[in-house]
Amino acid sequence: MLYKYETHLHTSEVSKCAVSTGAEMARAHKEAGYTGIFITDHFINGNTTVPANLPWKQRMVLFAKGYESAKEEGDKIGLDVFFGWEYTHMPYAADYLTFNLGLDFLLAHPEINEMPFEEYARLVKASGGILIHAHPYRTADYIKFEPNPQVHLIDGVEVNNIVSNSPNNHNHLAWELARAHPRLIRTSGTDIHSAGNAGLAGMAFPYRIESNQHFVDALRAGEGYLIIDGENTDLEGNRILPNEEACSSSS
Ligand SMILES: [Zn+2]
Ligand SMILES: [Zn+2]
Repeated sequence: MLYKYETHLHTSEVSKCAVSTGAEMARAHKEAGYTGIFITDHFINGNTTVPANLPWKQRMVLFAKGYESAKEEGDKIGLDVFFGWEYTHMPYAADYLTFNLGLDFLLAHPEINEMPFEEYARLVKASGGILIHAHPYRTADYIKFEPNPQVHLIDGVEVNNIVSNSPNNHNHLAWELARAHPRLIRTSGTDIHSAGNAGLAGMAFPYRIESNQHFVDALRAGEGYLIIDGENTDLEGNRILPNEEACSSSS
């Protein structure tokens, strides 16, 4: 059996564009058979509900509300909930999923809101976090297309992003980038903004993820599977059959 996780999820408490609360997201993923979810709301440099005219600490407390809502519900219903965020690199509006850092990191580093991306990337790494370039080739009005993803600054690439199943995500280009740089971790995420879309993407592992660090270790070890269109696939995107799953988990 594989344990499934959503890796790219927005809540309406914090992301202006999301329509479901953290608690609703937790319930929807439990029903879809997931073991856990990573909350990755738009950071306050993105499409956020968090007001700008508050002291940093209050802004960060509000920023964690979507996670807290999901976590509280997850604890009740038996769904593991982890904290992350989606950092927007201005002026390009390129987006980076940031994992393995917590609210303590955010409270300690108010400067990240204004930082050049290169400095943010170095700080995240030095602090033990990782950066996954989300939908690196998405074209949209709000994105100033960045022709050369800064591969030297990222740990991985979201090869499968399916928000609204939009062709504007150009996932095939993300796959090309990942293949050209075998060092890069590959992830899949729904970029879910509405609970009705639960179950379409994410990552699966042959064991339960115990912590953010465990998640990062599992990704780096290449022990994950991609969930694409609701099906489990290997890291090349080839569908694995249910009996192969059974074999691999019992061996
Ligand atoms: Zn959004
Ligand atoms: Zn997103």
